[in-house]
Amino acid sequence: MQMQYPCAVREILDGLHEAGYEAYIVGGSLRDTLLGREPHDWDVTTSALPEQTLSVFRHRRTILTGIKHGTVTVLAEENGTPLPVEVTTYRIDGDYLDARHPSTVTFTPNIADDLSRRDFTVCAMAWSPYGEGDGLVDLFGGREDLDARLIRCVGEPEMRFREDALRILRAYRFAAQLSFDIDPATRAGARVCAPLLARISVERITAELSRTVTSPNAAAALTMMIEDGVLGRICTDLDQSGIPRLAALPPELALRLAALFRRTPVDRVNGVLTGLRFPGTVVRRVCAALALCDVPMDRDAPLGVRRLLRAGGQAAVTDSMTLRGAFGEDVSAYRLALARSLERGDCTDLAHLALSGGDLAELGVPRGPDIGRILGRLLDAVIEDPTQNEKEKLLTLAKTML
Ligand code: ATP
Ligand code: MG
Repeated sequence: MQMQYPCAVREILDGLHEAGYEAYIVGGSLRDTLLGREPHDWDVTTSALPEQTLSVFRHRRTILTGIKHGTVTVLAEENGTPLPVEVTTYRIDGDYLDARHPSTVTFTPNIADDLSRRDFTVCAMAWSPYGEGDGLVDLFGGREDLDARLIRCVGEPEMRFREDALRILRAYRFAAQLSFDIDPATRAGARVCAPLLARISVERITAELSRTVTSPNAAAALTMMIEDGVLGRICTDLDQSGIPRLAALPPELALRLAALFRRTPVDRVNGVLTGLRFPGTVVRRVCAALALCDVPMDRDAPLGVRRLLRAGGQAAVTDSMTLRGAFGEDVSAYRLALARSLERGDCTDLAHLALSGGDLAELGVPRGPDIGRILGRLLDAVIEDPTQNEKEKLLTLAKTML
């Protein structure tokens, strides 16, 4: 089997092998390599106990990532860039008491035990240049499922999801990322076990959901999640009509979430996303864009755009254009007007108004709310007619407002 993988990883496999231990590339890194995708992390599974791994790599930089779970991270380097490799001892998980964490972890000398605890067949293969035959250890038909583009549980789906309900979300996330289907029996298990998602921490749920939503095949995966009663368990108020629009949007979390909540009142969206602990920057961006999405488009596109810029600022206007375009509105005139307006440097906020609060105070306006009110009205006038943004003109106008 032809395997393309970093020399740094090979050195780690060599080091363990020379010290008399078994060592394999495993899990997502092997899956992605076989798919011709660049893995974002490298995992090695080994018969060496954590202390033995540490001893083999005593001359290298290592981190004890989780000695209890048997993981030692070797800080390797590939072509000058750091490449952390997680080296984990073969292990068996004990009973799962809380639908998420095994109560105990036991090391095992047998790679088959280690592979059988893993969630999906395509994530449960191992490969080593020193392995038998072509070096691939594939006990559950992972290679075949990879070719058929299928996510399938190792073992009995319902049991595996009862052990750890996070696996349910991982199944749909992988389907979204890899553009895979999910095996019917695995989906049936997910359907039955969906209520167990209540026991998973909101951070873990949101991490999986974020990755699903920003993946190339998000629409198909989310549709399956709805059909299987999974999405409703983790997220309410979502508007299904946004799902087919996802593919028309760049893979940015805020834009894609905005599409999914397009028909939900903005206050409600704010509540739902905050409850899911999405970062404040993301929540604000979603809400700011949605707030502009339903503003009727003015026939006078330059004026309409200036009004939007005043209401939400450049980023929100750009996002709202992207969203409205994805939902089939013709935004070409607005896009052009936006580009021109930015190029011209139209004043659409108080910071760029040619008159300041200080100027108004000099005119004799008492410091306090009156100043803000007048500045707001001056800005309104400038939005309607940008040629008004000159100090003398604004002073004259301000005097009529006193
Ligand atoms: P990615 O890194 O893209 O999330 P991955 O498959 O590498 O995908 P990791 O979370 O890095 O996922 O885990 C590495 C491997 O550990 C997986 O491929 C799988 O074999 C196993 N694994 C991870 N999480 C679980 C889980 N909840 N239940 C069973 N096995 C798991
Ligand atoms: Mg990984």
